[in-house]
Amino acid sequence: MLVKKDPSFLLSYLEDSSNLKGGYTDRVVIPENVRELASVLKEANSGKIPVTISGAGTGQAGGRIPFGGIVLSLEKLNAMGEIKKLEKGGSVRAEAGVIIKDLKESCERKGLFYTYDPTEQAAFLGGTIATNAQGARAFRYGPTRRCVKALTVVLASGEILKLERGAVKAKGRVIDFESGNKCYKIELPAYKMPGTKNSAGYYVEDNMDLIDLFIGQEGTLGVIAEAELELPDKPKGIFACFAFFEKDNDAWNFAACAGRAGPLSVEYFDANCLRLLQHKYGNVPLVARAAIFFEDEITLSEDSVLKKWDALLSRHDVSQDNTWVATSENMCRQFLEKRRYIPEEMNDMARRTGFPKVSTDLAVPRKNLSDMLKCYSDGLGRSGLRHFVFGHIGDAHLHVNMLPSGKNDYNRAKSLQLDFVKKSVSLGGTVSAEHGIGKTKKEFLKLLYGEEGVKEMKKVKLALDPNFILGIGNLFD
Ligand SMILES: Cc1cc2nc3c(=O)[nH]c(=O)nc-3n(C[C@H](O)[C@H](O)[C@H](O)COP(=O)(O)OP(=O)(O)OC[C@H]3O[C@@H](n4cnc5c(N)ncnc54)[C@H](O)[C@@H]3O)c2cc1C
Repeated sequence: MLVKKDPSFLLSYLEDSSNLKGGYTDRVVIPENVRELASVLKEANSGKIPVTISGAGTGQAGGRIPFGGIVLSLEKLNAMGEIKKLEKGGSVRAEAGVIIKDLKESCERKGLFYTYDPTEQAAFLGGTIATNAQGARAFRYGPTRRCVKALTVVLASGEILKLERGAVKAKGRVIDFESGNKCYKIELPAYKMPGTKNSAGYYVEDNMDLIDLFIGQEGTLGVIAEAELELPDKPKGIFACFAFFEKDNDAWNFAACAGRAGPLSVEYFDANCLRLLQHKYGNVPLVARAAIFFEDEITLSEDSVLKKWDALLSRHDVSQDNTWVATSENMCRQFLEKRRYIPEEMNDMARRTGFPKVSTDLAVPRKNLSDMLKCYSDGLGRSGLRHFVFGHIGDAHLHVNMLPSGKNDYNRAKSLQLDFVKKSVSLGGTVSAEHGIGKTKKEFLKLLYGEEGVKEMKKVKLALDPNFILGIGNLFD
């Protein structure tokens, strides 16, 4: 086990992609196996020392930034286990510190398709499970939760739980289970989760599986040490396309029709994002004011997929001059790099201006998307703030990024962000669809589930972490 105290080493553990400042710790502890991990927790628990769990630090909500206590980094628990290919699909076991990009590539070499990756490929598997991450392909395959078959979780007490999906289920909203010599009884919150993509607060539903409580818990209920994932087959090929439009409305109409044609992903970019793409890569059609990026699986032949999309694009009057099309693996990879460039550049721009970007991660029921889009364009239009809108339009889930250039701008952006969050809740949406609540969106969680819902979440935490040592400041105070 490594224990690092050198202040220059500790610095990189005091940040993530949220730009939250002021974090501090005097120690980063890096266990090299689950036994060591359990003993760190046992000791911290008996001394009531707060423990902040660290993955790769790509999180957008400050969840891994410590405010006191120790940091527990999973970086050395990075062994990849066996990848089993079955006649249909297969499975993989991996420790929490495995980098998503490596996991994805290893699975693909064995003919399996890991589609649960967030856009940021440097994330750790444990971090993506702790935030229930979901990237563009969640449109077809759903969130990380969907592929988790088993988990090894270490509780604050140091107790090691081996959880298999299907083994322990709640009765209504109560979960009873035994582990070691201990009996646990957890009363689950009564709130109803929004029926959209959602990574806000604890996952709860009637008769739920215990394993689901630990997915999306943002380091507050236990440390995810290892996981077994169930994966589909890698398709024969992928078709990817950027379709450019002169008007936002045309792009949104196309996205709705494209979504019904069963693609892997349907993503939107506004005119400001296209300017960034043009600056970096060139070749963006001059008339373009919006773009839809989508991918489809080639299951039968390349020709049949091309025909299907060509017909849809023609019906929407999108000429070949206004599309970029990729069918080879290499070109698809380049398209994904372009897709990734936008959020990465957004974070870099915020770093360069020195003011945190103010962003949203809201999803609403699809039938309410047009109301939400109108709210965004009215608010952003009035504000005069520099902004970029992009993301998972197929799931009615867009990211609005506002880049303030001074204190006044920042305050205006925060107030607009709150308006957007309230609108999303009023439309039956969520306050965080994929990034989680962390330390930066706690107030939003109350808007979604009320004070009572947050109190009920604290009771769940108390049942599993009675000394309140894990992930302090995440989700609630
Ligand atoms: C450019 C960019 C694009 C992104 N795009 C997406 C996207 O498309 N979709 C998406 O969902 N996210 C996206 N993200 C956010 C981020 O990549 C995800 O939230 C990711 O899941 C975080 O993983 P991590 O290993 O970096 O976790 P960290 O940032 O280290 O931690 C995140 C949270 O999980 C907890 N945690 C970490 N590891 C464990 C563990 N083993 N056990 C228990 N708790 C743990 C931490 O305490 C913290 O609360 C993006 C980020 C960037 C910078």
